[in-house]
Amino acid sequence: MSQSKGNSQRVHKFLTDDLTVRAASVIATNVVDEMRSIQNSYPIATVAVGRALVASLLMASHLKNHQELSLYFQGNGPLGRVFAQANYEGQVRGYSNNPQFQAPMEGDRLPVGPAIGIGLLTVTHHLPTGDTPHRGTVIIRTGEIGDDVAYYLQQSHQIPSVVALGVHVSPYGMVEAAGGVLIELMPGHSEETIAKIEQRVRKAPSISKRILEGATAEDLLKDYLGDFKLMELEHPHPIEYHCRCSKDRVMRSMVLLGIEEIDTMIAEGKPIDVACEFCGRHYEVEKPDLEKIRGDLYKGSLN
Ligand SMILES: [Zn+2]
Repeated sequence: MSQSKGNSQRVHKFLTDDLTVRAASVIATNVVDEMRSIQNSYPIATVAVGRALVASLLMASHLKNHQELSLYFQGNGPLGRVFAQANYEGQVRGYSNNPQFQAPMEGDRLPVGPAIGIGLLTVTHHLPTGDTPHRGTVIIRTGEIGDDVAYYLQQSHQIPSVVALGVHVSPYGMVEAAGGVLIELMPGHSEETIAKIEQRVRKAPSISKRILEGATAEDLLKDYLGDFKLMELEHPHPIEYHCRCSKDRVMRSMVLLGIEEIDTMIAEGKPIDVACEFCGRHYEVEKPDLEKIRGDLYKGSLN
């Protein structure tokens, strides 16, 4: 257990020696528990957002410097929207609309899929240059997050993959284990490679259970790729829960409220307290700020 609770958790990246399989794995217990503690999320939201945080970290590790990627689940379930965003450097943040949603347990399983519901998953790849981001949208297959990411990789990039994610919460709701594995088959892979991985997938123990037992990120990967010779790629970026919000960003998002709502706030004349949904930081938006937002909205309405 001590190993997985270390401070220098990072995404480990590997390639098979024939270069036809690339893989990434991470133990992210601390990061997911930090999200849980900031948002005071209950188990279902903790597991759903936690899995999305892990998946976004794994996917972002294959980008380039200063690029980021987000996963946006818009389902019709009680959790509302589930969002996670990570960059190549290992900074990650996320939220759901209803972090305190409570659902009855199904045996010892938390029903994450039904809590997300039916809808769409949009994956956005942001480039640092201000170019238009790349977006891909697929239907939500099961809402279990891992299945949905695998479906996206197949549909949008024709990449067969294994996406195994695990988040385990204690009876008190704290995160005791979180992590995952992303394995992608690259062009030129053989039927034999597929068969070897499929065989391992059938026998692989649960990710959460392995982390609770003290498995490292590399151990998790070997459960799936133990039959291959692996080369580790350099990726020296410790993961952290990090939010880049600012008063300016908060004000820009308030434009979505519309002119009437902003006018009401201006008429009331009181400062508005706005909390960032990612990190809980509070911003005080005062009357001159509201007037500036109104000005921007007015300009927008003329365009
Ligand atoms: Zn924030």
